[in-house]
Amino acid sequence: MAHKNLYDIQDGKIVRKKRNCPKCGDGTFLAQHKDRESCGKCSYTEFTKKEEKPAKPAE
Ligand SMILES: [Zn+2]
Repeated sequence: MAHKNLYDIQDGKIVRKKRNCPKCGDGTFLAQHKDRESCGKCSYTEFTKKEEKPAKPAE
């Protein structure tokens, strides 16, 4: 099954699902950190930080 939702809705809240490591495959989940997800097996890291709008210059 190629189609997988990354998010699930529970009680009206968006819940992020655990993701498999793209290198190690099924069964190896990425550890979720504040701004990234990483695989403890192969050290694959994916940043999940939201894009922030660049602050406008003062002048
Ligand atoms: Zn991995």
